[in-house]
Order: sequence, then C-alpha cells, then structure tokens
Amino acid sequence: MSDRKLNFFAGPSVLPVEVLDEMQSQIKDYQGNGQSMIETSHRGAMFEGMYNKCLSSMRELLGISSDYDVYFLGGGATLQFAMIPMNFLKPGTHADYIKSGTWANKAGKDAEVFGDVKYYFDGSDSKFTTLPDPKTVHASKNSSYLYLCSNETIGGIEWQDFPKREDTPIIADMSSDFLSRPVDVNNFDMIYGGVQKNLGPAGATVIIMKKDMLKRANSPLPNYLNYANHSSKDGLFNTPPVFSIWGVQLVLEWIKKNGGAQGMKERATLKSKMVYDVLDSSDFWKSPVDSRYRSKMNVVFRLPSEDLEKKFLTEAAQNDMLGLKGHRSVGGLRASIYNSCPVEDVKTLTEFMKEFERKNG
Ligand SMILES: *Cc1c(COP(=O)(O)O)cnc(C)c1O
Repeated sequence: MSDRKLNFFAGPSVLPVEVLDEMQSQIKDYQGNGQSMIETSHRGAMFEGMYNKCLSSMRELLGISSDYDVYFLGGGATLQFAMIPMNFLKPGTHADYIKSGTWANKAGKDAEVFGDVKYYFDGSDSKFTTLPDPKTVHASKNSSYLYLCSNETIGGIEWQDFPKREDTPIIADMSSDFLSRPVDVNNFDMIYGGVQKNLGPAGATVIIMKKDMLKRANSPLPNYLNYANHSSKDGLFNTPPVFSIWGVQLVLEWIKKNGGAQGMKERATLKSKMVYDVLDSSDFWKSPVDSRYRSKMNVVFRLPSEDLEKKFLTEAAQNDMLGLKGHRSVGGLRASIYNSCPVEDVKTLTEFMKEFERKNG
C-alpha cells in the first residue's frame, strides 16, 4: 500500500498508479535494453517502438482513420491557440469561436492577433455557466473554421453532443476531457489537447488533424509553427517530448485494459454522478452551472460562504484530499475527477462532503 494522497488537481493531474509503478521500474533500463527511454535518441529503434505503439493505441481507442495525422507537439495546448489561426485563419475571412469560458476565450484572443474573429455565442451573459444547443450551431458564411472547447476546465461545463460538421471545418480543444468518452473524430477537422489532464505527464500536446486541412494552410510560416512539417515527419520534425509521450503510451494501455473510451465514459458518468448527487441533495451545496452541460471531469461547486469554503479546503487537506480549490479566477471549489482518478477516491470525497454538511449545514 502507498500513502499517496487523493488527487483532485485540475492539471497536471492524477495518473494511474500502475503507470507510475511501470515508469519507476523501467526508468533506468527500459525493457532490458540497457538504456533509459529518456536518455536515448528519438531516431532510434527503442523510442520508435514505443512511439508507434502509442500512436496505434490512440488510433485504435478513438477509431481514427488514415485520413488523419496523429502526433505530439510541445508548447502546451496554449501554443495551439496561436498555431491554429496562424495556419488556418485565411486573410480576408474570419473564424467563428464559441465563447464558452476561459479556455475558448483565450484561444479567440490569440486568433484576433491574426484576423477577424466572430464570437458565435457569448457565455459572459451567464458568467460562462451554459453552452449553446449544439443543434443550433452553424458556422457563418465564409468562415475559415468553427472553434470550440469541449470541456471548460475552469467553468465546469462540457458539451454533451457536438455541432455537426457542415461545410466549415470544426476544431476542438479537448484538453480536459480527452478520451473520457467515445468521440466521432470524423466530425472534426482537428482535435487537440494538452496531455497533462487526462493522458499523461505534462509536456506533450496531442494533435489529431485531418490531412486535408493542410491544403487550407497559410504560407509561408516559421518551420515549427507549420503543421505541414510535423505531418510530413510523422511528428518527429524535431525532438518530441519523449518522457511525456512515454507516459501517454502507458496510460493508453491502461485505458485499453479499463474498457477503452466507452469504459472511461462509464467511469466518468459514475464518478461525476456521485458528486452531483451530493450537490443536488440539499441547499447547502450550489452547482453554478446549467445542469444540461455539467462537466463529468471538473465538478465546480460553492458553499454558503467563502469562510465555509476555506474551512472545507483546510479540512479536506487534513484528510489527505488535495486540489479542491476552484480556479483563482472564479473562486469556489472544484473536484477534477479525470479518467485515472479512482472511484474509491471519489467515494471518500463524497463521504467527506456529507460529513462536512452534517457538521456545518
Ligand atoms: C489546461 C487547459 C489548457 C492549457 O493547457 P496548457 O497545456 O497549459 O497550455 C487549454 N485548454 C483547456 C481546455 C485546458 O484545460
């Protein structure tokens, strides 16, 4: 048994303990090769074997066809906020951004540097607690692409269904709910995400892009910032974030063992329901978000006063539950319960919550 604390951080976040054990056991000598994965050339057979396994697991788990590239970049999801408009926001046109919260808004701001942005929806009217009905979402005429964030990590809202791809490409930031459920990749022209929420140790950003998108790209572009270079080199245009990719490869194996994308969806549904059931059980708790779009990854909640919220955090920490503070920009409380977060940990959290209410309600 280990004395690990319960991890509800929003990111970097919890990893399966089996994956950490595996990394520990292989860190000095990877599978008897006499070298470490993180000390060897990314052009060598040892890295390539692991890398190819990682990419094929990703394709298998999400049903990604050969029409799409899959690879990893550095720079976090944040670099994609700039690379996307730099590559795809056509001069003389505009792009549609769904203004759903902190992360989509940051992406929109970066796009404004390169061209016109039309905000399709403005969540600020509701303090970013709701989303548009996906059936009503249509890209505007001549739009270069339609951009959305599938799960707003800070606001705690998540698209349950997505707008349907029409003539305009759809690009989605899935950083915080990546592989937490099956997704029809063919509905998107690009899906990306920082891996540190649901997929592995920080450092890599996964890119899934329809190869056809490259035909739409602007040029010239600086080399690293040009997706075409990463596509033509299968993601090995320069040194990739090796340690992070290794972690992702192991997490993908873990996801396969645990029922794949559908298994992750069932886990996420079960775990998030456990917390929302407590929130719905009395007026002591408040869930600020539209119940139709409640996130299964980041459960945001409030207590009757900020003093009680402080007390909650202090007592949670005394009980070895960490990371429950809401993002500094919105305050309140947040439990991030990503794929690797054990069901038992969520059970411990909900029991603590009920006890806290008994004492303070
Ligand atoms: C965390 C997060 C980001 C930023 O990721 P970095 O890898 O830190 O750049 C972007 N989008 C969403 C939805 C996130 O949750």
